[in-house]
Amino acid sequence: MGGPAAAVGRLRGGWDVTVLERARELGEVGAGWSFAPNALRAADALGVGEQFRACSVPTEAGATMRLPDGAYLMRFQPEADQVLLANHRADLQRVLARHVPAEKIRTGCEVTGVRQDGAGVTVIRRDGGEMRADLLVGADGIHSTVRRGVWPDAPEPVFQRILCWRGVTAPGAVWPVRGFQTWSRGARFGAHPLVGERVFWFLTVRQEQPGLRFDDDLGEVAARTRGWHKPIPGLLAATPPEAVLRHDIHDLDPLPSYAKGRIALLGDAAHAMTPFLAQDACQALEDAVVLAAEAVGADSVPQALDRYDKARRPRSQQVQRMARTDPRLSLSTSGATYRLMPAMTPPGLHRHGSPQERPPLGLGPPVHAPRPGAVMGYRVPMVERARRRPRAGRPHRRRAVPKRPGFTRHIGTVSGVSTNGITTSSTARHSTPDEHGSRLRAAP
Ligand SMILES: Cc1cc2nc3c(=O)[nH]c(=O)nc-3n(C[C@H](O)[C@H](O)[C@H](O)COP(=O)(O)OP(=O)(O)OC[C@H]3O[C@@H](n4cnc5c(N)ncnc54)[C@H](O)[C@@H]3O)c2cc1C
Repeated sequence: MGGPAAAVGRLRGGWDVTVLERARELGEVGAGWSFAPNALRAADALGVGEQFRACSVPTEAGATMRLPDGAYLMRFQPEADQVLLANHRADLQRVLARHVPAEKIRTGCEVTGVRQDGAGVTVIRRDGGEMRADLLVGADGIHSTVRRGVWPDAPEPVFQRILCWRGVTAPGAVWPVRGFQTWSRGARFGAHPLVGERVFWFLTVRQEQPGLRFDDDLGEVAARTRGWHKPIPGLLAATPPEAVLRHDIHDLDPLPSYAKGRIALLGDAAHAMTPFLAQDACQALEDAVVLAAEAVGADSVPQALDRYDKARRPRSQQVQRMARTDPRLSLSTSGATYRLMPAMTPPGLHRHGSPQERPPLGLGPPVHAPRPGAVMGYRVPMVERARRRPRAGRPHRRRAVPKRPGFTRHIGTVSGVSTNGITTSSTARHSTPDEHGSRLRAAP
């Protein structure tokens, strides 16, 4: 996704671009994903915002949190909560690919090595051929060949002790679904509506060893969510078993640089992160905007890439760190953590509808910690509740979220408070200025 996005940005900046893709074709790959508004703003800057919206469906999963028995920890409130946009990876990939001339996308073309000199970059392909360019963007994912070639000492991806299954239901089989997440101890299920009356779902679980295989992935998901509330069983029943994806979740330690000379890293190749903030691909889109904008009017390619590195690394690595920290609590298997957390979220502060919907304090199915310090559209139930607690005898007043310039204004919904030491205000300091989007839009 980062590759085509970068290509769209570079084409917009007036460059001649070629995309090299290892896969034989750009097919129906992946499942669904969700995007916070910063992704949409980046898509707008790239000139693909309208098509992005057209292939996406609003989802309430960022602010509707349930327990396995169906009780609500938190319910989406239209006037207060941020909708995310969900789409199918293949649909978004098609949108981006449509903006790149077909002859500029070379599929079945695997890069096996790169080298650079003062005048340009040489790309070595698996078929033995070589190509020359002024600039190379390594958007080749978490196991990036470009990263290994240019930064041989960079650390390898780190397994985060998380396993994730994903699936997409058959069209119309379970509809409508507004988007929700369901939290259990050491596990989280989520669902987002997609265009075509399909529903994307995921189950993430704590898993100590990577590489586990299952004869029947869908059966395994069903077994692990047995007895959970509707529509979870229906979603699983409506999913073609062969389309279920299973991934060990890895991320990267922060890299010392995203650019060297005429070569830059982008997306997962630069800052792969756990998907817990739904920001991974959003950050790749931001990368693409900044990369293209920095090239507009730059004196040289290395200078433009240096500026790209300086603009993108602090912000994306802050998000990367938060995405690594989040599941340590939100996927905690610790009984103590899960017993403690309901006690820290008194029923009076819960955003359930009626008292009957509330689980008794500390009872009910295992509940892991509400996610602390979350940003990017996923909010912090505990902090939010505390902020919204009406004082005795006084009407409840909603506190305005301060608007800040840059993408962050549209990402963070919680400011200055967290239980894990990471605050959105510290993220804001590293925000990517709006200016990059404006510069790209103004490019000739
Ligand atoms: C379970 C899971 C759930 C996720 N959920 C979300 C979500 O909700 N929201 C979100 O924003 N993100 C999510 N992500 C993350 C998202 O999938 C990635 O951040 C995003 O795909 C990164 O895009 P990319 O282009 O950098 O890398 P990739 O999507 O990995 O693309 C890399 C491309 O490079 C090609 N390639 C690799 N090596 C070579 C080579 N040597 N030569 C030529 N081509 C090569 C590959 O074939 C591939 O097409 C999730 C990830 C996972 C695993």
